[in-house]
Amino acid sequence: MEFETIVVPIIVIILVYIFILIIGPLNTFRANPLVQIFFVALYSAGLYIFVVDSLQVLEEAEVNNFYIAVIWLQVFTNLYFYLYCCVSDPGKITKSNIKNALEIFNYDRIIFFPSECKTCKLPKPARSKHCSMCNRCVAMYDHHCIWFNNCMGLQNYRYFLFFLASLLFLLITASSFFLYSVFKINYMNVLSKFQSRFITDKSFSIMKEIIATTLFASPYTSSLALFLLFLVPIIAFFLVYQTRLWLIGKTSNESEKWADIEDAIHDKIGILEIIEPQNQDSDDRPKILVENISMIKNMYNYGWKKNLELLVWPPYL
Ligand SMILES: [Zn+2]
Ligand SMILES: [Zn+2]
Repeated sequence: MEFETIVVPIIVIILVYIFILIIGPLNTFRANPLVQIFFVALYSAGLYIFVVDSLQVLEEAEVNNFYIAVIWLQVFTNLYFYLYCCVSDPGKITKSNIKNALEIFNYDRIIFFPSECKTCKLPKPARSKHCSMCNRCVAMYDHHCIWFNNCMGLQNYRYFLFFLASLLFLLITASSFFLYSVFKINYMNVLSKFQSRFITDKSFSIMKEIIATTLFASPYTSSLALFLLFLVPIIAFFLVYQTRLWLIGKTSNESEKWADIEDAIHDKIGILEIIEPQNQDSDDRPKILVENISMIKNMYNYGWKKNLELLVWPPYL
């Protein structure tokens, strides 16, 4: 594979991205597609190396066509979820659906109190938040994702997790097949070149040299494989972290609010008086002195099964 065939298009993509970055919207605090473009460019570069180099490497290593089809299927599944996360409605609160939105969750009067959004001029349902980047209120707001240029909320959060899961599977499958193939077609060759030295010297440094030379024999596919492998723990961490949060009845937004409350209790910035959530409908609510966060019940945690149900079959506005 010619050096220029791979490197030139990637450099062009990076330059186009930098150009868009410079002429792009200067106010990056408003929703804009810059990171989205970066993601698509990075993904395209990966796919380009896959098509012009890795497919040949896999073929040379006699990898069954079935497994190559599986990789393609994973790519399309992942891109489908990516696209869905970009265009889906996270649960935008409008005049016409505010009545429904208010009925989904009660106010716990700990992290959510009845109030009005100053920008949208609409009541703020419990668990919702005004996204300053998209300039709208979103039901069960989790976070605004710059990779999708969209908010993640009540109605599309599961697609965010599906995207992460499908990406993780793709990274694991592709990197393992790439590395397996690179070693299969190059390792014996490289080993024979090192044979005379390897007989007398079996140290770690010579092993490192053999592995590096093997990888360098198919540099593009090896680089792609190592990059994908590098992403595996990062994506796995996010997937586990975000799924766990949902299963314990917290959004990312609420998790921050709970952390603030915990800090306040810990720092003893006055002992917080928290109204018992169970008695929120009464006006003479008894107040309890909170010395430990475990004394406060999160009323949005319905148990992991119900939380999972809310994730997979959320009520639509
Ligand atoms: Zn709003
Ligand atoms: Zn947003």
